[in-house]
Amino acid sequence: MTESSSRRNVSQEPSGSPYPIPEDPMNTSRSTTPVLVVSPHPDDMESGAGGTVARWAAQGRKVVLVVCTNGNKGTSDLDMAPEVLAATREEEQKNSAEVLGLSEVVFLRFPDQALEDCYELREKISRQIRIHRPETVVTVDPNRPYIRHPDHYTAGRVTLNCVFPFARDVHAFPEHIREGLEPHKVREVYLWGSPEPDTFLDVTDSFETKLRALSCHRSQVEQGWELRDVRARTRYTEVGRRIGVQYAEAFKRIEVF
Ligand SMILES: [Zn+2]
Repeated sequence: MTESSSRRNVSQEPSGSPYPIPEDPMNTSRSTTPVLVVSPHPDDMESGAGGTVARWAAQGRKVVLVVCTNGNKGTSDLDMAPEVLAATREEEQKNSAEVLGLSEVVFLRFPDQALEDCYELREKISRQIRIHRPETVVTVDPNRPYIRHPDHYTAGRVTLNCVFPFARDVHAFPEHIREGLEPHKVREVYLWGSPEPDTFLDVTDSFETKLRALSCHRSQVEQGWELRDVRARTRYTEVGRRIGVQYAEAFKRIEVF
């Protein structure tokens, strides 16, 4: 895809956004800048941003995934032992990361449904930002109202707090500085699952890869692949219509000043 045709496939709604239309995130001139993705559970990232992440990885961007919880309560099977499920989901996540072309997966292994805004979580996410020095951070929007998973709220909220101010400020986590990790300023954040999306990215070319990655999470599909795929195609077709492409993913984009 040429740069000009790629540019047509990203848009930002002009009304209601205080932000300027972004430089095209698929622009090949930025293809080597690192990306850090923070996911509350194994498989959340694939649902919200799998197509976008696969495209970035295919363009040569280093993409590192941080998974906050071990997902050990993600089942309706009473006979499934939580520790077995956690180990299974870690393997599923590794397989999915390979399908998507990710560079690395970091498992923080906090227990499912118990993620809290604590020093340890702030420190671990800030550490990954300072290690990998991403230009772009991707996570879940914590501002979804009413019914929402508490781990999603915490993962999204703490990640934003780590982007600013924790990873950026030199006096936050002085142990990092002593270890040789420098403060880092992230340039932009993409939030999936946003109630106010303003950026729609064409994932037509990577949509089948997204579905294959989701299929790696076998423990999470209880209603069958066919129904899951039909629902995904319907959902992302609707998003694609907003920018005139077959499939698209929706984000709230924040430029960090
Ligand atoms: Zn989740």
